[in-house]
Amino acid sequence: MLPEKFIDRLQEIYPEDHQEILMNMALCERVAYRRNPHKFTDEEFAELNNSLDSNEVEFYEDARTVPYAQREILVNSSEFSEGKIYIQNLSSMLAPLELDPGKDDWVCDFAAAPGGKTLLLSALMHNEGQISAVEVVKKRFFRLKENLRVANAENVRCYLTDGRSVGKKCPERFDHVLLDAPCSSEARMHPDKEESYSHWTYKKVKECARKQKGLILAAYESLKPGGRLIYCTCSFAPEENEAVLQFLLDQSENEMEMRDIDYQYSTYSSGLTKWGKAEYSPSIQKAVRIHPTDTLDGFFIAKLQKRV
Ligand code: SAM
Repeated sequence: MLPEKFIDRLQEIYPEDHQEILMNMALCERVAYRRNPHKFTDEEFAELNNSLDSNEVEFYEDARTVPYAQREILVNSSEFSEGKIYIQNLSSMLAPLELDPGKDDWVCDFAAAPGGKTLLLSALMHNEGQISAVEVVKKRFFRLKENLRVANAENVRCYLTDGRSVGKKCPERFDHVLLDAPCSSEARMHPDKEESYSHWTYKKVKECARKQKGLILAAYESLKPGGRLIYCTCSFAPEENEAVLQFLLDQSENEMEMRDIDYQYSTYSSGLTKWGKAEYSPSIQKAVRIHPTDTLDGFFIAKLQKRV
């Protein structure tokens, strides 16, 4: 049973949809994976897809989904162990796709391990340009490095450091920044899996929010004028989402501006403008709160741009 306080809060965040969201949090019917273009050709990918009950993905041609029952086939496949495919939730794929890096760009991934989004950035950049991937937890840092090695992601350099230090070390250095922030992982909680929610407390949400504010400030400082910042979490908590964006808008004295995300693939709601006593800028409605479905995890994603 999910924590009572979490359920009460969900009801406040989504007065209309909380029941459906709770129901869908218990679903995991389809598994998504994507091609690693550094190692796997279109033809090889097609052959693998034809051997499974795979469905195409509307927003990304290199991704497919299969029924959950086929997850083990993917996990045990040589294509997976050799880094030719990467198993990744579709919501997670949206963040690098929205960042839309170019081949000549220098991108910083502020919270990178185990590297799912770094790898997609590398794929989208055709192994060109530069990616700086930052991770603070040593064990996770080495896992990140290994995943990048196996996948032949050659345009990435990894840094074992606290993302909050990057703003001062690298002011206005990166063309674009991805901040897939460490969070309370609310959207990954499953009502039948205690280990998925036993960590959750409201205190944890507030601790995460404090860290996220430090990270987003550093991300902003390290971004070149005109650069894009994607901020995302797998939390439903406004403290970890809209409040962090509001903090950035205030701290940057509106040098950072919210941008539209053209999301139309599944049920979602816009960023909130109010939570408790807090009021947020109307522009924060441009953020997207993806509701969990049988295929997508719940996800919060926002795009911002630094004024030139
Ligand atoms: N982007 C990753 C992916 O797609 O595979 C998942 C990132 S996970 C949501 C957040 C990561 O941030 C964790 O690996 C965590 O160890 C790391 N982290 C936590 N605090 C950090 C900090 N202060 N600086 C950098 N990374 C941090």
